[in-house]
Amino acid sequence: MEWTEHTAPEGPVFLTAATIPYRHGFSTRFGGVSTGDLASLYLGEHREDAPENVRENYRRFGAAVGFDPARMVFTRQVHGNAVRTVTAKDIHALMTPVPYDADGIVTAEPDLALLCFTADCVPVLLADGKQGVVAAVHCGWRSSVGDILKNTLDAMRALGARPEDVAAAIGPSIGFCCFEVGPEVAAGVETYLRGDTAGLTRPSPNGEGKVYLDLREANRRRLVQLGLDPQKIAVSRACTMCRPDKYWSYRVVGQRRGTMAAAIVISE
Ligand SMILES: [Zn+2]
Repeated sequence: MEWTEHTAPEGPVFLTAATIPYRHGFSTRFGGVSTGDLASLYLGEHREDAPENVRENYRRFGAAVGFDPARMVFTRQVHGNAVRTVTAKDIHALMTPVPYDADGIVTAEPDLALLCFTADCVPVLLADGKQGVVAAVHCGWRSSVGDILKNTLDAMRALGARPEDVAAAIGPSIGFCCFEVGPEVAAGVETYLRGDTAGLTRPSPNGEGKVYLDLREANRRRLVQLGLDPQKIAVSRACTMCRPDKYWSYRVVGQRRGTMAAAIVISE
């Protein structure tokens, strides 16, 4: 019951989590106008699709979730741990260069849509519905073990949020079933979670110290360590790599991929 899949009248299929008190959505590949390798709800900016297709995809996704594509903020994501606090001055026009690097963004301004993009990495939306503070975070393994979620909570707290009032949604991403990583990643997670890693990895048959990692659960545990109420954290079970027809998966289609967007906006 935590997650609901919606099909908007114009076609976009997207997911919402019951924990989040504001308008938000995690996109899928379904319901856009892009074709071929990018079919169909392609929400990337810097690849090969026609600008009018990308604009139409954003228009449809915005209409479906309930935000204005003319009031979006996003960043150049670099797998780092930097978090930026943004305002209406940071509104970004489609098809123009993104002026800053950050993998997390935070705001307390209403009617400003925060977006992050993923294609296997873990998208995390956060919202304090009492104090009116939200965040969108791109959590690949490097950003995760770099403790970007702590940096995000710090930035939210600076805007008045209280961790015990923050709700979370951890969206569709590569699952424990498929996410094979090297020993350096497992070691990074051990440090990241201060040893609270029971059950987070299992050996891979491919040897060389490789393991399968449950990165979504790792990030859920970190949010609890940071003071969130476990009851207010929704974790998607959808695996991008198991369903490349429905979700973009970098590990399945490589560079010829689109991206999914997770969007959140402080709304009535
Ligand atoms: Zn899988």
